[in-house]
Amino acid sequence: MTAQILDGNALGQKLRAGFKFKTDELAAHGVRPGLAVILVGEDAASQVYVRNKVNACAQAGIHSEKYLFASDVAPQEVFDKIAELNADPKIHGILVQLPLPKHFDAEAVLEAIAAEKDVDGFRAENVGALMQGHPCFIPCTPYGAMKFFEDAGIRLKGKEAVVVGRSNIVGKPMAMLLMHAGATVTVCHSQTQDLKAHCLRADILVAAIGRPKMITADMVKPGAVVIDVGINRLPDGKLCGDVDFESAKHVASFITPVPGGVGPMTITMLLANTLESAERALTA
Ligand code: NDP
Repeated sequence: MTAQILDGNALGQKLRAGFKFKTDELAAHGVRPGLAVILVGEDAASQVYVRNKVNACAQAGIHSEKYLFASDVAPQEVFDKIAELNADPKIHGILVQLPLPKHFDAEAVLEAIAAEKDVDGFRAENVGALMQGHPCFIPCTPYGAMKFFEDAGIRLKGKEAVVVGRSNIVGKPMAMLLMHAGATVTVCHSQTQDLKAHCLRADILVAAIGRPKMITADMVKPGAVVIDVGINRLPDGKLCGDVDFESAKHVASFITPVPGGVGPMTITMLLANTLESAERALTA
């Protein structure tokens, strides 16, 4: 068996083509959706992610503003910028690129973003709403993963889903979305005993670990759907996921590649959330 590739670039393009209708609608009301991205520090990967987000906004007709701060900036400067953006009617979404330098209280920074502009869905209020099943904004990475299932017609009801990773930004919201969709969800992490046994039960396997190629073919149930969230840079400079794609693709029924899988879908869903926010602001 060779798995069907879940192509994030192709699905992202398809969804983004549909956004044109929304931006046109908003333009007819004199509104241009706007996203502000804040980056603190010089982390190379974060710089790439921010650049990609800003470029994607330009292509989708979304206004974007980028704010760069040195890694040793006083946190108050960043709080002041967030307060300014919260009050700016041109801005419908505010994103603070994580991770933040160690002298920042990341949770306090995220909480400073106005709930209606929290397009990453990371504020406690948004997390609670997601848990209750009526999210204000769905965190972009798990949202993108869910779009793969929807687009490929992959049923989740009654399926065994295993999410490896329990971070607030990927693993936990992913598990919550799968549970709401009717899957029976197991969340694994660094303390999990016998990870392989858990993975082998998974009809739906999501890897969000940050360990290159850790999920090998012998950990994948034949016919499983494999979503690889990981983005890891190898010593030769190439990117790879948390799943050993070359071996796992012979066991899985569907699999996302890295790059070109979840990554472009994360950006697509960020655009979707920003548009949604602009639409809500219009009708508020
Ligand atoms: P975190 O480091 O916050 O979380 C990693 C999770 O993996 C933790 O829950 C950790 O467990 C678990 N873990 C670590 N080692 C093991 C192990 N040996 N066995 C089982 N579980 C383990 O990472 P993120 O969730 O932020 O990101 C995960 C990956 O996804 C990264 O590669 C990141 O770059 C990528 N990413 C990709 C995005 C995209 O758009 N494609 C967006 C966001 C992230 P514990 O909690 O016990 O420490």
